[in-house]
Amino acid sequence: MSQRPPRFPLPLDRVAAGARAANNAPRPPRAAAPTPAPQGIGLDSEAVRRRMVQRLRAGGVHHEAVLAAFAAVPRHHFVDTALAAQAYEDTALPIGLGQTISKPSVVARMLALLADGRSAQAAGHFGRVLEIGTGCGYQTALLALLGRQVISVERLRPLHDKARERLAALPRANVRLVHGDGRLGHPPNAPYDAIVAAAGGDDVPPAWLEQLAVGGRLVAPTRAGGGGQVLVVVDRTDAGWQRRCHEPVQFVPLESGVA
Ligand code: SAH
Repeated sequence: MSQRPPRFPLPLDRVAAGARAANNAPRPPRAAAPTPAPQGIGLDSEAVRRRMVQRLRAGGVHHEAVLAAFAAVPRHHFVDTALAAQAYEDTALPIGLGQTISKPSVVARMLALLADGRSAQAAGHFGRVLEIGTGCGYQTALLALLGRQVISVERLRPLHDKARERLAALPRANVRLVHGDGRLGHPPNAPYDAIVAAAGGDDVPPAWLEQLAVGGRLVAPTRAGGGGQVLVVVDRTDAGWQRRCHEPVQFVPLESGVA
């Protein structure tokens, strides 16, 4: 099994193959769909993606597996064509229904925090991951390269359906998209080695703490004292749950129920 980071550029079908190899997962029964050529972006997407990765590195992200995932996943495939030219800027973009795809530096920060929670050898191997808030599916595609299995829950049906289309080239073998209320986690596949939320509530829902594996780490935006949000990291050990607050962030609210 090759441990080398993926070469650039990697279309999603080869990302899928790489993820399969990295995770030793079986090939899905049908061949991955052909990857469309980059559209709506008048730039060489490989080069702009490489520059994005350089910026992330300069900003302090040093996990090679995380950076390789950013280099491999074409972010412009996950936003509307009209926004594709902005896809590699460090900016949040609308994805419909009042939701946004987080800016790359914030996604990278969350993934780096997850990687920090693992031993040096396992930093690029997140194990079984629960993602709350699939949104457009961009972070899901990154996690598919880093995790052995990814369960991603989205409460808004239209976003869930669209993400399913966009992620069609990824192997069904290691990504499972669920339409549901992520505040409840996803008990059927628990426990999770990593849990990451892209929407913030008043506190970390108890279901996430329960479904976090011993030795696992959770990263989630959560309401802070002054009314803003901070990134909260929770580690679960044999002794219980250890919680630390990090920098202020701005994520969409964690809502209840499905729509
Ligand atoms: N990582 C996503 C970010 C999307 S924004 C991306 O790359 O696009 C956060 C998402 O969380 C939104 O799609 C929102 O609908 C979803 N969300 C909010 N509350 C939720 C809940 N209780 N369960 C599941 N998803 C939720």
